[in-house]
Amino acid sequence: LDVTDIKIQNIKSILNVLRADSLLTKRDISAITGLSFSTVSNLSNELRNAGVLVEEKSGDFSVGRTPGKLMFRTELYCSVCISLHTVDRMSLALLTFGNRQIYQNTIDITGMDSIDALLTEIRKAFEEARASVPAEIRFVAAGVSVPGSMEKGTGLIRNCSLALLEGQPFKALLEQKLGIPCYLDNDANLCALSKSSMPGGEERNNIVYINICSGLGIGAVCEGHLLHGAHGYAPEIAHLPLGDPQVACSLCGSTGCIEDMLSYRGFAPLKDASLSPEEREALFRDRGERLGELTAALINLFDPEVFYIGGDALIEPEHLFRYAEPVIRRRAYLSSPSCPRIIFDQNNSTTINRGISEFIYSNWDPLHM
Ligand SMILES: [Zn+2]
Repeated sequence: LDVTDIKIQNIKSILNVLRADSLLTKRDISAITGLSFSTVSNLSNELRNAGVLVEEKSGDFSVGRTPGKLMFRTELYCSVCISLHTVDRMSLALLTFGNRQIYQNTIDITGMDSIDALLTEIRKAFEEARASVPAEIRFVAAGVSVPGSMEKGTGLIRNCSLALLEGQPFKALLEQKLGIPCYLDNDANLCALSKSSMPGGEERNNIVYINICSGLGIGAVCEGHLLHGAHGYAPEIAHLPLGDPQVACSLCGSTGCIEDMLSYRGFAPLKDASLSPEEREALFRDRGERLGELTAALINLFDPEVFYIGGDALIEPEHLFRYAEPVIRRRAYLSSPSCPRIIFDQNNSTTINRGISEFIYSNWDPLHM
């Protein structure tokens, strides 16, 4: 850590406290963060000069000098949250650092076949969004959720369900197109990040999130850190052989890939209207038990505090869970204090946007924008 890092870290400590609880005095902040009063005072003056904080003077002047209370102007700063996690549509939302969505638009990208067309569409959507909110709003950065991984070192997109992104240096291309910093991560990673960092909420250092969508992905926060691995591919579970060994995978050519069971294409047969109720129930049992096996394996690997299951492809989660639960009980190492809460996330898009915004917030340098 050099001096600048320490300074940014201290600034973030101050802002994190004010983000959870607005209107605190410098003394309050010093007490909560453990930073000295003079550090809090110097840094908050810098933040006030940069327009990040405002000081509200007390209205009561009869008792002499009362300390002003500081407020973080969270509604002034926003993240551009671009979600490309489904192959047929894109969502662009604006989220303030106060976690308020001030704009959202969904754009059909069916049949889009080139990266240039996609970049142009995103630029257009960004311009529309910018024109529809007050002019004083500051766009800190754009963040994108992709159904694939960004390779460390090269920055290229790999293993992506959205074919036109495959092998592209998408972050660099998008920064060029939008003229603001851009961040990019896997959709399931962003879901896990979102659930682990709720401002003012309980601290969660170990989270697993299964995202069932066009593909099957997981995100894991382990001991406080979002897991990416040495090359940016981790954690990858789509092609683990936990599926039906008779079924050949349409993507990798092996057999028994779990993604073929738990994804849009895995749940598609459940929507077949010609199924008898018994056939449909048998399919539910199969998918539920597979989900149970996968969940149990991940609980054993990661020992999370909370386990989330979400994604657009998920059908009748309670119904699936009736079959998944006995399998989890049987296969996971569960003594009652170590049994994680399992939660079905009904609002996957909101979770992803919040994850993108947290990602941007954590990389934000408040004194230099
Ligand atoms: Zn496969």
